Parts: sequence; structure tokens; C-alpha cells
Amino acid sequence: MIYYKTPEEIALMRASNLLVSQTLAHLAQTLRPGMSGADIDREAETFIRDHGAEPTFKGYHGFPATLCVSVNEAVVHGIPSKEQVFKEGDVISIDCGVLLNGYHGDSAYTFALVDTREEVLQLLRVTKESLYRAIDQVRVGNRLGDIGFAVQEFAERQHGYGIVRDLVGHGIGRNLHEEPEVPNYGRRGRGIKLQEGLVIAIEPMINLGAKEVRQLPDGWTIVSKDKTPSAHYEHVVAVFKEGPAILSDFSIIEEAERQNDYLHEVKVLRAVKDEMP
Ligand code: MG
Ligand code: MG
Repeated sequence: MIYYKTPEEIALMRASNLLVSQTLAHLAQTLRPGMSGADIDREAETFIRDHGAEPTFKGYHGFPATLCVSVNEAVVHGIPSKEQVFKEGDVISIDCGVLLNGYHGDSAYTFALVDTREEVLQLLRVTKESLYRAIDQVRVGNRLGDIGFAVQEFAERQHGYGIVRDLVGHGIGRNLHEEPEVPNYGRRGRGIKLQEGLVIAIEPMINLGAKEVRQLPDGWTIVSKDKTPSAHYEHVVAVFKEGPAILSDFSIIEEAERQNDYLHEVKVLRAVKDEMP
């Protein structure tokens, strides 16, 4: 069953998702060659707890860390470790989740460390743009299939990349994973109609090579079968009458305030923000 959220709930979800976005921004400033997955994980956990929230992933089905850190051919669910030392040219996908005021935030970003190959940088650009093209479909009256279609059309048909089928986006709220599933492929005009109050995490996972993946013996890490690099970007998006609102993007608040839009939500959010440390 799908839980549609009230404006008050969406304001609370904005706070959770903004904290994830701030955590990722903080990590972006910290990340450098020579650091390890364990270093960046510790940094994230401290940041999240200092802001009065809890890391969602830690302990989720037994996952041992705050972040999923997936390097190069790792697609998602990589376990950060001391042995995993970042080097120049790496692409590092960091997926982060928090629980704040009873609601989950979830967002991911793929970072390129210095001197990454141009063809890999292009994969990152296309994956990120496919996410924004998908977000643009999050409108009342559109259907779930329009979202997946937007990703597939751009990343697969126009650019020839492999879209991972085995993992999908999801509804989010009081639970990290709720209905509906949000695949990164699909047919236009198919699936449920999007309604106000729907909140979903859209997260294209795209390989430079073929779409097939496998799981490593650690029971978590998903890698591309052909060992080509993979990219992953994720935003949590709410459906409003006026269009999509990206809850995990800090800049959108200023934009909303400028346009005098989502006013009720901004007001609730301000109250939440004022209470943040
Ligand atoms: Mg995520
Ligand atoms: Mg997610």
C-alpha cells in the first residue's frame, strides 16, 4: 500500500532529506585520495549524530555502516572499510540515509577523484542528467512508467549505457523502503498515476558497459559483471500540484522562497530548521 503524505509530513521529510544533502556536501569537501572508506564513514556518522539524527543504514538488515561506499565497478551497497583506500581516478558512489523526527532521508551522489577518465566523467554527467529528466516527470497525472522511461530513453537509447534492472528506487517516509517500486526503465503511460503527496526516491544506477550485475561474497556489494565503472545518483522527490519538489536538494528551498511557492511547507520547514543545532 502507498502512503501519501500530508504537507506537514513532507516538511518533516524535507528536514531529513536536507540533512542527508548537507552530509553529502560535507563529505564532498572532505573526500580526497589516501582516505579510506572507514574514514569517510566515521566522518558521516559523526556529522549525522551531531545534527540529532541517526544513520538509517547502520543495522538495516544487518548492514554494518552509516554509508554505502561503492568504488568504480561497484554499483551500490559497498561496505566502507579501512582497506578500501581511495586513489586518483576513482569514482566513488556514496549513498547516505538518516532518520530524523521519525522520517527517513535518502540520497546518493557519485564523486570523481582527480584525473578521472573522460569517458567515466561522461557516464557521471549522463547518469545525473537522467535523474533530473526523471524528476521532471514527477507531476500529477503522469504515470510511474514515465519516470523509468525518461531514464531509459536518455541513458540507454541515446547513450548506450547499461541500466541496472535488479535494483530500483522506492517510496519513502516512516519506512526507508515503501511502495511503490520505482524502476529506471519502463513504458510511457504505464503504471500507477502520480498523485499529490506521493514521495519517492528516484535512483538511476548506470554502468558504462552492460547492465548485468552480481553480488560479492561479502553478501552486500553489487558490482557490474563486466567490471566497468558504474554511477549512482539519488534524490527524494515529492509530488505537488505545482510540480516536483526535490526534498534532498538544499538549493530548492531558496528557489521556493524566491518564487513564493510551497509557502506552507517552507514555513514549517523554517520552524524545523530553527530548531536544528
Ligand atoms: Mg540511497
Ligand atoms: Mg534509496
